[in-house]
Amino acid sequence: KGHAFYRDTWAEVNLNAIENNVRAISRGLPAEAGFMAVVKANAYGHGAVDVARTALHAGASTLGVAILDEALALRHAGIEAPILVLGYVRPEDAPLAVRYNITLTVFQADWIKEAASQIKPGTGSLKCHLKVDTGMGRIGLRTEEEGDALAWEVKAHDGLFLLEGIYTHFATADEIDDAYIREQHSRFAHFLEWFKNRTGIKHPVVHSANSATALRYKDYAYTLVRVGISMYGLVPSEEIAGEITVPLEEAFSLHSRITHVKRLEKGEAVSYGATYRAEKSGEWIATIPIGYADGWIRANAAGGEVLVDGRRAPIVGRICMDQMMVKLPDKVERGTKVTLIGRQGSSMISADEVACRLGTINYEIPCMISYRVPRAIY
Ligand code: PLP
Repeated sequence: KGHAFYRDTWAEVNLNAIENNVRAISRGLPAEAGFMAVVKANAYGHGAVDVARTALHAGASTLGVAILDEALALRHAGIEAPILVLGYVRPEDAPLAVRYNITLTVFQADWIKEAASQIKPGTGSLKCHLKVDTGMGRIGLRTEEEGDALAWEVKAHDGLFLLEGIYTHFATADEIDDAYIREQHSRFAHFLEWFKNRTGIKHPVVHSANSATALRYKDYAYTLVRVGISMYGLVPSEEIAGEITVPLEEAFSLHSRITHVKRLEKGEAVSYGATYRAEKSGEWIATIPIGYADGWIRANAAGGEVLVDGRRAPIVGRICMDQMMVKLPDKVERGTKVTLIGRQGSSMISADEVACRLGTINYEIPCMISYRVPRAIY
């Protein structure tokens, strides 16, 4: 992508997989539902600009990010599609959103008042989506009184705020038990009715669905779904994995190349603390140039494996800042490719396997691979 890199550790991002995932998820949705590609956090570690372009090409109409900086980065890369910032933006930064045609999430009356005092008359209007907290307990207004106060402030600044959308976020869409999401949904439906009567705004964009909701509750798609994790080819939780019939292709993989190979005698040690000792003479130990500063955290050493020539090789000893060691099934050449996440022949280490090893969710895996690992995007 213009600049070379000089290390043999890289992540690959398969944009074709992302394109296929967007199309496959879209096919399962009601016709009136638009597709917001959630590309926050550098597109969950995949590279925001390339993923955004791919998703838009595959039919997405809108992009979702977490913070204003991410929206501005997309604009600076020349992306002109609508962008919604899903998180909080400081009212003093509202003029930037106006200038770059970025839609903000609003939910506080006093925020509207402060933002209004920051936007210079004649510079344009601020596009907004109203966030309703129906039970996520994160951001959003919770009562009709709060809604009233906000609507009043919007009206008081005639034309300055364009309330184009209204949305909520579900806390348990990826769980089998549907009691809580049904409760949240019913609160949302109630609020929508109130909003329509109260504000007279006729056709706002209405959205509630993340990946799990879009895949499992088609009735909650409304006019837009906000899809992140499944666009990257991952299922939102293990619990519902068995239910997902849409074909998803994992887009992220992580690779390296062996820098050093040596034979150990029984009892010889590997890495800090000398915690690993060769169990017998003739063990082949390979060094791989990836470590915790790359986001390949030390906890990966506990039960972690990598693929070498399509075979599994266990991580041995502690993971260092920039390097780690594995025990090879057989001696191999320096420069041999190692796959930490992804496929080699018929063997596969999924992001789910790494998440399980680390006791976390698959979302965290591509996000935690640091800036120091170049993304080879194809
Ligand atoms: N909508 C909001 C408000 C979010 O915070 C997120 C991400 O966490 C998403 C949608 C996308 O969720 P998912 O990656 O589960 O599809």
